[in-house]
Amino acid sequence: MLSREHIANIFEKIALLLDLQDENPFKIRAYKTGAEVVENFQGDLLKIAASANYKDLIKTKGIGKALTDKLHELATTGKLEFYENLKAEFPATIFDLFKIQGLGPKRIKDLYKKLGIASIEGLKTACEKDRISKLPGFGKKTQDKILEAIAFCEQNADRFRLGNVAGQAELILDELKSHPDCLRAEVAGSYRRGKETLHDLDFLVATREAQALIDFFVSLPEVDSIINQGSTKSSVRLDSGVQCDLRAVSSAEFPCALVYFTGSKEHNVALRGLARDQGYTLNEYRLAPIDPESTDAPREFHDEAGLYAALGLTCPPAELRENQGEIEAAAEHRLPRLIELENLRGTFHNHTTASDGHNSLMEMANAAIELGLQYLGIADHSKSSVQANGLNEKRLLNQLRDIRNINENFKDEDIDFRLLAGSEVDILKDGSLDFDDELLSQLDYTVASVHSSFTLSEAEMTKRVIKAIENPHITMVGHLTGRLLLEREPYAINIPDIIDACAATGTIIELNCNPWRLDMDWRWWKLATEKGVKCAINPDAHRAVDLDSLFFGIKIARKGWLTRHDVINCLPRDQIFAALKP
Ligand SMILES: [Zn+2]
Ligand SMILES: [Zn+2]
Repeated sequence: MLSREHIANIFEKIALLLDLQDENPFKIRAYKTGAEVVENFQGDLLKIAASANYKDLIKTKGIGKALTDKLHELATTGKLEFYENLKAEFPATIFDLFKIQGLGPKRIKDLYKKLGIASIEGLKTACEKDRISKLPGFGKKTQDKILEAIAFCEQNADRFRLGNVAGQAELILDELKSHPDCLRAEVAGSYRRGKETLHDLDFLVATREAQALIDFFVSLPEVDSIINQGSTKSSVRLDSGVQCDLRAVSSAEFPCALVYFTGSKEHNVALRGLARDQGYTLNEYRLAPIDPESTDAPREFHDEAGLYAALGLTCPPAELRENQGEIEAAAEHRLPRLIELENLRGTFHNHTTASDGHNSLMEMANAAIELGLQYLGIADHSKSSVQANGLNEKRLLNQLRDIRNINENFKDEDIDFRLLAGSEVDILKDGSLDFDDELLSQLDYTVASVHSSFTLSEAEMTKRVIKAIENPHITMVGHLTGRLLLEREPYAINIPDIIDACAATGTIIELNCNPWRLDMDWRWWKLATEKGVKCAINPDAHRAVDLDSLFFGIKIARKGWLTRHDVINCLPRDQIFAALKP
């Protein structure tokens, strides 16, 4: 089944290929706009496009006659002949070039036209032969950067962002659960542990009819190809490229298998050691006495908690299973009670159409109300982020007034919800801020972020960000390292120093839960909370639907051992204003 993201993606690719063909810019623009309209369409686009009344779509702003016909073709046949023909004129590998950091359509066009480069491999060879440095507009420095970016890409080949596979993982899990012979099912592996990127998805089912489940699994509509198919296990590749493994076990084996396949390896090694010390051998199927003469039967458990209890442990939440102190804490029954999605009362860092977001203040507010939140912070970009249509002083003050008016209405209508007026203020190269203190002091809170000059040395970058943190009008620091998972490395910054500065000034650190970022990394939160630094889980939403990313934010927060007391979003509305401006 085609999704609207899929269609938007096809339109975007058409625009790229037309650009490579030097097509008329208006035609290119039409597809780019079309992709955006498709993504933001209010209503069931696919249903309308497939219906007899599909021509009504022409009335939609940004969709002309040509696109209307193409949408109809896609919705009814699942394919687009125009796109297939266009694609056939280029090597299939050309889209891989867009994964290389620093290469946009313009450069890719140059590489393709002037050197015939249409794959990462071809690009690498050309760099190694020093041919790129001689291209006008490239140079030696760019060539070196490209080589670095290729190495980064190679290192991340076959890895996927948690947020980008979660939808498919949950869908397949539901499908498995719907099978009449499925007794229990779970996604195990790094997905269950909430790792920020993962290599594959591991499904586990308990059943008496293993073959039936395996046959069902390999025939799921999301499956693109079968890698192998046995009687109790199978591997497939999905249309999205992700490899999925399924194992079928008996109900009695399920608890041990779930622990085993959830991992991590390090956690399992430690667990097996503990079992051995107690005279047991633990594997993916059972916990049994080591002594071959023993007449004791393998231990029986109903669930994971039973297995952990047999080893004298409280059951650690899957996110903690990295052998980073959770086994010791479980042995002493002092595992923290981790934050849960239901604990969230609001969130802070979100954009609207005023800067580079796609929804209005009211649309964002309504989406947050629908999620059951009590408040939503608006932090649009500041004026130096020109590419993101950042707000100048005047526009920010207008927005502030609009927010106050909207809140008056909420109050009049007795709605338990408020917008918070903030700003994502650029930290300039020298650590100064994009707005003066007088303006910042009028806001409910501020998020300070780096959006430029990423290549400073670690010392300079750290000094720059600390200078912003030390401004009393800065409430929190946004996406601390600027990383884009699998695409852009974090910039150099000394995180322990930043944590110390935040502790000294009472500045909050953001856990940016946009699936591309998940920044600050989960590995640092224990240190931050030990120093008393609070966390704000922020989706950095550019669309109302992005608020759903809070789901990943919770997973990462749990992975960082955070409880609801560590996360400022858990405060109810009547306490939040004071907490943001102590
Ligand atoms: Zn930002
Ligand atoms: Zn942002």
